[in-house]
Amino acid sequence: MNIKRLLYFPAVLFINFTFAQPIIVLDAGHTPEAAGALGAKGIYEVEYNDRFVAELKPQLEAIGYKVILTRNPEQNISLQQRARIANQLNADLFLSIHHDSTREKYLVQTTVDNLPAQRTIEPFRGFSAYVSNKNGSPFSSYCFAENLTKQILPLGRAPALYHTDPIKGENRPLLNKEYGIYRYDNLVVLRSTQVPAVLLEIGVIPDEEDEAWVSNSQNRHNMQQAIVRAVANYQDNCIKPYSID
Ligand SMILES: [Zn+2]
Repeated sequence: MNIKRLLYFPAVLFINFTFAQPIIVLDAGHTPEAAGALGAKGIYEVEYNDRFVAELKPQLEAIGYKVILTRNPEQNISLQQRARIANQLNADLFLSIHHDSTREKYLVQTTVDNLPAQRTIEPFRGFSAYVSNKNGSPFSSYCFAENLTKQILPLGRAPALYHTDPIKGENRPLLNKEYGIYRYDNLVVLRSTQVPAVLLEIGVIPDEEDEAWVSNSQNRHNMQQAIVRAVANYQDNCIKPYSID
């Protein structure tokens, strides 16, 4: 090593340290083979998730984040693989994007253009966020969820509170009713991630009104910008030890 290189070495280290890019792992829930909930227009959840994530990615890159997707739309991967990607990168954040449904007894089967579809028989609307106390960073996860939902509420969007219903498959404890934050310890992508992780349900796709809301590109953009604001102020608000018990 010549002397010139030695002189440059600390400078390079300093630059790398100063400008280390924060990483967010974005996870579009489900796969083409296991496509999730069926919506009022006969479109499966995975397509809504893929579209939302594809639109969100450049908006997070615009605030300086390195954005890693767990899967591309054509890819089938396991839940454990998604968590592993975030852990191996030691990402700053993991965000899983989903679209919600409700229980079968509140759904009727229909068709749209000869394709199967389903719709709700009464309103089931709104967003919800999930965190797990088995996650490696429960405080930061909850704090990120709170940041997210605080940004979403001013859009005029209400939290979906029906997952508290005391029956099998629901019965999720609400950590914060105002913000629609649930605790769901055994969700694999949340419990297997060491890094702060939140699962966000954007809307309820068998509900015709909510499906129309999430299908509107301006609404989606507003929701995505709310997420961007939450990610942008996450570092300032959420880095300290905490338990969500
Ligand atoms: Zn889902």
